[in-house]
Amino acid sequence: MSEEFPQTLLDTLRRAQRITVLTGAGISAESGLPTFRDKLTGLWAHYRPEDLSTPDAFRRDPRLVWEWFATHRAAMTAAAPNPAHHALVRMEAVVPQFTLLTQNIDGLHQRADNRRVVELHGNIARTKCFVEDLPVDTWDETGDVPPRCPRCGGLLRPDVVWFGELLPEQALATASAAAKQCDVFFSIGTSGIVEPAASLAYRALSRGATVVLINLDVVNDASRQLYKINAPAGQVLPALVEAAWPTAAAL
Ligand code: NAD
Repeated sequence: MSEEFPQTLLDTLRRAQRITVLTGAGISAESGLPTFRDKLTGLWAHYRPEDLSTPDAFRRDPRLVWEWFATHRAAMTAAAPNPAHHALVRMEAVVPQFTLLTQNIDGLHQRADNRRVVELHGNIARTKCFVEDLPVDTWDETGDVPPRCPRCGGLLRPDVVWFGELLPEQALATASAAAKQCDVFFSIGTSGIVEPAASLAYRALSRGATVVLINLDVVNDASRQLYKINAPAGQVLPALVEAAWPTAAAL
């Protein structure tokens, strides 16, 4: 397997003390979860995610938005981590300082058993109050859709970051520091369109880190500091981890 990867990349990975990984919807595609680039299907075929994932959409039609997220929550709960998620668990076990930043809201990194996961866009399994912006764990099932906050009676919403909303401050600060301080920065399955996460790879690159992009919409390329790998994450990540750290395969 190792001959598939440039020796310079394998050497850099073995030497790395600090690795930061940023993941997007593409890493969960092989778990059967559609990315934002995939068209919505079935009942939702006439909608675009950009039109349903906003505070304005929720104000306009809270029931529609709640039900759309409920459909996603059910799919994400039913999905299982794939070989790409498992490879990152092995990487975390062998790299001295490892930070996993994710834009995903599906919780699959935690379910695979990565320890240090920074969620930039929240988690669909959690719920919060639209009015108070505070977490809500339990509520009365009165038949209201969306249900109501047991504290203030406001509408409940998923605890995810919608278009036009700010990212959680602490997560963003951690992400920014981890991008600045790493030796290697991986960007996996993210289109790089959504800011500010999109600029993290460039921040790492400008600080001298080696950047590895794994995505289906890049052209294969290897230069001294930037490696682009066009392959499904579920295939390439296990192979790369095994090639760089053969002992990690046993973990
Ligand atoms: P995106 O949908 O904009 O882009 C996905 C990227 O993944 C594309 O560039 C595509 O080429 C690549 N890709 C698809 N399959 C791949 C594979 N098997 N291996 C490697 N790459 C693959 O996703 P984004 O950049 O993460 O941004 C969209 C936003 O949508 C994020 O903020 C995220 O929160 C949200 N989202 C999350 C999920 C999830 O949690 N699973 C799913 C859909 C959307």
